[in-house]
Amino acid sequence: MGCMSNRPANDENTAAEGTDSAALAARTSNASAAKSAPTFAAATSACTAAARWSLAGRFDMQPIVETSTYLADEAATIAFAAQFAASVAAPCSVALIGDLGAGKTTFVRGVLRALGVTGAIKSPTYALVESYDTTKGEVHHLDAYRIESRDDFEARGGFEYFESPSIRFVEWPQRLDGAVNFDWTIRFDFEDAGRRVTVCKGLVA
Ligand code: ADP
Ligand code: MG
Repeated sequence: MGCMSNRPANDENTAAEGTDSAALAARTSNASAAKSAPTFAAATSACTAAARWSLAGRFDMQPIVETSTYLADEAATIAFAAQFAASVAAPCSVALIGDLGAGKTTFVRGVLRALGVTGAIKSPTYALVESYDTTKGEVHHLDAYRIESRDDFEARGGFEYFESPSIRFVEWPQRLDGAVNFDWTIRFDFEDAGRRVTVCKGLVA
């Protein structure tokens, strides 16, 4: 299981997830070699501990910071995205937090390229969603920036993209007022000339 959902965890399936996490960590570190930061691999391992703290399947305690990585330039963002792409699996919902220009769309573009998308990749700011066939199935890239409310999102069919077991990335998830359960939050902050990316379990907005 690549993307661990917010299910209630008992000790048995927590242990099983730990095994998956170890395998994921091994795969990811092979791909990127020991010299680079074990960004997403560390996040998947840390998730085992996070799962034990879940309450009825919801991560409503203090945000647990899984990883924090400095990305010096756009190429570093793309490399980080490729690493994430290697570990993610449907069904999975990922919230992308960060100011305009922080790198959310760049990150999704990096994921899509890593998953074999060769055509044009447009920002979904106006269309609400752009969908792609990838090597890991359907990926929906949503941008809720122009959404006024949860009802507006519903009226525009936004929730339909969460019904089939796809991978979804959502920019500006704060606009949805908690109506979507997210597996991961990835936050981009401006830092010096680059960006700091922080990966957390659940929705941390
Ligand atoms: P958002 O979707 O968050 O509004 P975009 O991805 O559209 O942001 O734009 C991000 C901008 O920042 C792009 O111009 C991109 O080249 C640049 N960028 C992406 N990652 C980095 C980075 N790690 N360091 C510096 N610039 C970056
Ligand atoms: Mg964007």
